[in-house]
Amino acid sequence: MSAVAVNSWVEIDLDIIRENYLLYSRKLRPGQEIMAVLKADAYGHGAVKVGSVLSALGCRNFAVANIREALELRQNGIAGRIVILSYTPAENAALLGKYDLTQTIVSESYAEQLAAAGCRAKCQFAVDTGMNRIGLDSSDPLHCAGIIRRFADVLNVDGIFTHLCHADTDAAEGAEFTALQIRRFEAVAALVRDLNLPYVHCLNSAGGVRCNNTKSDFVRLGIALYGLKPDRSFPMPSGIRPAMTWKTHISMIKEIRAGESIGYGRSFVAPAPMRIATLTVGYADGFSRSLSNRGFVIIRGRKAPVVGRVCMDQILVDVTGIPDAEPYEDAILLGVSGGVSCSADDMADIAGTIGYEVVCALSKRVERVYL
Ligand SMILES: *Cc1c(COP(=O)(O)O)cnc(C)c1O
Repeated sequence: MSAVAVNSWVEIDLDIIRENYLLYSRKLRPGQEIMAVLKADAYGHGAVKVGSVLSALGCRNFAVANIREALELRQNGIAGRIVILSYTPAENAALLGKYDLTQTIVSESYAEQLAAAGCRAKCQFAVDTGMNRIGLDSSDPLHCAGIIRRFADVLNVDGIFTHLCHADTDAAEGAEFTALQIRRFEAVAALVRDLNLPYVHCLNSAGGVRCNNTKSDFVRLGIALYGLKPDRSFPMPSGIRPAMTWKTHISMIKEIRAGESIGYGRSFVAPAPMRIATLTVGYADGFSRSLSNRGFVIIRGRKAPVVGRVCMDQILVDVTGIPDAEPYEDAILLGVSGGVSCSADDMADIAGTIGYEVVCALSKRVERVYL
């Protein structure tokens, strides 16, 4: 940790990320490889650090969301394939080539733009099989394949991929839709097979587990790498666990009388005398304001409920039931202590979101400490 004190920090256990990667790798089919998804600063865990650790394990395929994230990895020595999963303005075509980045082609008109810009970088076509976000419409596979064929030589196309939008559920409707997406993708892939594109892939963390009979050159592994679940019901391969612990300090503890209110808007009124701890974390750090009067933190292996509204830089928690809690000790926001745990998935449940958003929302004010 830096010499100047911080008020809230995450400890990232790189060994756990290594283990998650290796545990997930054992689930792969022969010939399948992991493409480590490092977008959004590796879901808040630090893209360069995670990329370096995985490179040392032999990972040669990475994905990010945009060209800035890709350049950060390249400029910090990450070798191998780096796929940019969304749009990059064509004016940056030369940079894509210079740094050997692989650009996703989001549409036919974007392919034309890249071609007109003289883009020499590797490219992969996104194929839309039902998410309706990016990619060529695959409802007419012949038409879709025709577009890929037309640009196969103009641009340096070395792959196609699709994204599953409902593979995180075991509900019948989701499973059927996933099967439909895969059928649509395979129809397009079959029509361009003679192009011998080396990278044809359709699986994310959820798909890699739920659709393990599907042929896909890569599993684009995001959330499971960090030990979180694509969905609450998800059967995570055993041993995979969260790599992040989030901590803060108790700055003071006070006793309040019955009938006194706590925090902005006086949203909590003490029903009885209470012991209240003030913690040095708030929504500016990424501790969601939706946790007001709903969330909890862990102190001395016990739950301390959030009382009152989450402020920008501080929160208040009830430590009436934790009489040994003392000022200046640490409180755990995400992690395990004693018999109590709170994962990003647990926190997300309470806040009405998903674990992905909890870790991505950690702001730059939260120091990353690597174990
Ligand atoms: C983010 C993303 C992934 C990773 O998804 P996870 O659910 O985190 O495994 C894979 N593919 C694409 C296209 C993505 O945008």
